[in-house]
Amino acid sequence: MNALAATNRYFRHAARILGLDSKLEQSLLIPFREIKVECTIPKDDGSLVSYIGFRVQHDNARGPMKGGIRYHPEVEPDEVNALAQLMTWKTAVANIPYGGAKGGIGCKPSELSRSELERLTRVFTQKIHDLIGDQTDVPAPDMGTNAQTMAWILDEYSKFHGHSPAVVTGKPLDLGGSLGREAATGRGVVYATEALLAEHGKSIKDQKFAIQGFGNVGTWAAKLVYEIGGKVVAVSDITGAVKNPNGIDIPALLKHKEETGSLINFNGADKMNADELLVCECDVLIPCALGGVVNRENAEDVRAKFLIEAANHPTDPEADEILSRKGVIVLPDIYANAGGVTVSYFEWVQNIQGFMWDEEKVNMELKRYMTSAFDEIKKMCQTHNCNLRMGAFTLGVNRVARATLWRGWEA
Ligand code: GLU
Repeated sequence: MNALAATNRYFRHAARILGLDSKLEQSLLIPFREIKVECTIPKDDGSLVSYIGFRVQHDNARGPMKGGIRYHPEVEPDEVNALAQLMTWKTAVANIPYGGAKGGIGCKPSELSRSELERLTRVFTQKIHDLIGDQTDVPAPDMGTNAQTMAWILDEYSKFHGHSPAVVTGKPLDLGGSLGREAATGRGVVYATEALLAEHGKSIKDQKFAIQGFGNVGTWAAKLVYEIGGKVVAVSDITGAVKNPNGIDIPALLKHKEETGSLINFNGADKMNADELLVCECDVLIPCALGGVVNRENAEDVRAKFLIEAANHPTDPEADEILSRKGVIVLPDIYANAGGVTVSYFEWVQNIQGFMWDEEKVNMELKRYMTSAFDEIKKMCQTHNCNLRMGAFTLGVNRVARATLWRGWEA
């Protein structure tokens, strides 16, 4: 099942639980606007190359649309649509005043030079500048993009609209970024995990973690779990996977990766097969990379008791059913990874206020939002007698539906 079919299925299930009117259901499902643009740039050798860029603006009932821009070969319309829709429910679950959007360019950023990436980002911004803005649609980093990408978008956008720091979030600190934004998704994952474990009478300190993906989200999650005293027993990224049942020294692994560019050949852990990570012996499994990695091929073999969806849609619906039958508790993406967009909101608020918060305040507010969203999800689970995914979906969909009805947008 592709990502869009899976996301639609969860949404429809939530709509049924909530008893939504069928016309309202249909209007919530259909994106507000889908943008597809051709981006041609000269490569460093002078030859021309074309890429396709997308921005799907899914819903704006609760506020400006919000979501990342991804540079990755798997960027295609259905995937971007699914991710945009997930952002709508995610911002509603986090209870921040935004709708949902997502964008991306189908490219392999590792094969582009810095100046090619800059030209591509600027051309993409030229094509969509009229359709984004601090009160319409606010992009942010995602896979393959970072603070530098946001700086280029901001600079290009400002040529058309004047200085507008709140048009993107995840910016460098020097251009109005927020303290704590870089770590926010990983930190939010850890706060979410703490809330879930506490409910089961457990804590990070007494659990073994397997973390798939060692990019921005995975490295921060691993670092914070390690600092709190949890045992990270397995870690993987595109270069391979390593394990140590006694716990990996994460700062040393990070240093090794920085020096060698890879996780393997690290002294403090043994090499393992990357696929094995998802089914290795651990208590908490945290996929932090691409979608669909837990599926019907491997779900039966998952040994973790808790699966925290730090990536977007890492578990497909078939796997979801298998895991639920096995008693694995899944903390859904639209809650588990909402820390990134929550601190994006704090960044936007600071830009609009023209006032900078210290990091302690950012982290404290993030914890407050994550904890309160968990409590709200649990209430939905009790009211509708459903699992955490449906608890989160019903919470998010209900908030968007209510905002839509207040506006009088119903068909
Ligand atoms: N790309 C992140 C996400 O998928 C952050 C989005 C944002 O900050 O707008 O949630």
